[in-house]
Amino acid sequence: MVVAARRAQDGFVATFGRRPEVVADAPGRVNLIGEHVDYLGGPVLPVPLHLRTAVALARRDDDRVVLRSVQAEQTWQGTSRDLRPGTLQGWAAYVGGVLWALAEDGWEVPGLDVLVDGDVPLGAGLSSSAAVECATAVAVAGLLGVGLTDPVRRRLIAACVRAERDVAGAPTGGMDQTVALLAAPGSALLIDFGTDPPRTQEVPLALADAGLALLVTDTGVRHRLADGAYAARRREAEAAAAALGVDLLASATPDAVAALADPINRRRARHAVTEVARVRDVVAALRDRDWVAVGDALAASHRSLRDDYQVSCPELDVAVDASQEAGALGARMTGGGFGGSTVALVATDRLPVVARAIEDAYAARGWGTPRHHRIGPGSPARLVD
Ligand code: ADP
Ligand code: MG
Repeated sequence: MVVAARRAQDGFVATFGRRPEVVADAPGRVNLIGEHVDYLGGPVLPVPLHLRTAVALARRDDDRVVLRSVQAEQTWQGTSRDLRPGTLQGWAAYVGGVLWALAEDGWEVPGLDVLVDGDVPLGAGLSSSAAVECATAVAVAGLLGVGLTDPVRRRLIAACVRAERDVAGAPTGGMDQTVALLAAPGSALLIDFGTDPPRTQEVPLALADAGLALLVTDTGVRHRLADGAYAARRREAEAAAAALGVDLLASATPDAVAALADPINRRRARHAVTEVARVRDVVAALRDRDWVAVGDALAASHRSLRDDYQVSCPELDVAVDASQEAGALGARMTGGGFGGSTVALVATDRLPVVARAIEDAYAARGWGTPRHHRIGPGSPARLVD
């Protein structure tokens, strides 16, 4: 049994004095490329992580629900009637929110004891939120004896998205939950938000065979303007789409974008159309194992996010530049921006050098030490026996 799942099982026994009926786990993710285009109808290419969050649970004789998280160091207690938006707060909204969303979708969710333990760092841009949601959803499906077919996994995705949006109150486009539930082992998942439901396609990532790894660096900063700026970018992207006369900005043509008179419209739209092209390029390059081309696309994505979409910040730029100067094939910010994490494609034997270069660049500026995570591709959410 894998590490987090074993700990969840043992922790359940220690907390509740009996064995769990099911244990499930789900991966975090890093988005390799396709940033700020999901809500514009573009494609994204997230990778499921080897880091996982596990949920152990068992039915109770009454209608009480007891949620315990090792990472939150807290226990939430209530009845199944308390599982709803408004009543659930903080971390319990993510776990209890999934139970609520499943019940809303017609699942017979009984009283439960639940224990959460995981290895996906919280709030580092690696989607610990989707990992805990998807592990919860899969554990409930397992408890109720519902097989994890493709249609069932899609229902679970919808429940997890609903939990995060309506109960935790965090806007989510569904990328994180989709990759956690539908990715193929060792592969990235191309998710095309140009269709409803989004089309998905697995893209094998033979990183280890090529002597490569992904280095995720959590800058540790989150700038205060982030939420407001994020909303502003969405408005600006809508304005650019309207100026171009398209529903989805990602479907605009480069020529039409180049002809836009307003410079802000032109920049925002240029990011969208060039990022869509880069995702396609990376998918092709991964098939050809052309790692230099993958790295170049990551670097170009960062420049576009920095200069055209304007969602980067000095901490992200310095980490990206230092990575590339120290020999990374390419690096970029990943996630919403204004802080958060970078992802770099690095030869395995260069990892310590690249990590050190970023730390030195931060130290030289008097910034706090960033945290590194060496990432390998993992597998989707599953029941653990
Ligand atoms: P990210 O998904 O990038 O890690 P989010 O802010 O979207 O960051 O989600 C982090 C939140 O998800 C945490 O603050 C917590 O509420 C919840 N969460 C994630 N993992 C766990 C866990 N193992 N136990 C309890 N809550 C968790
Ligand atoms: Mg999240």
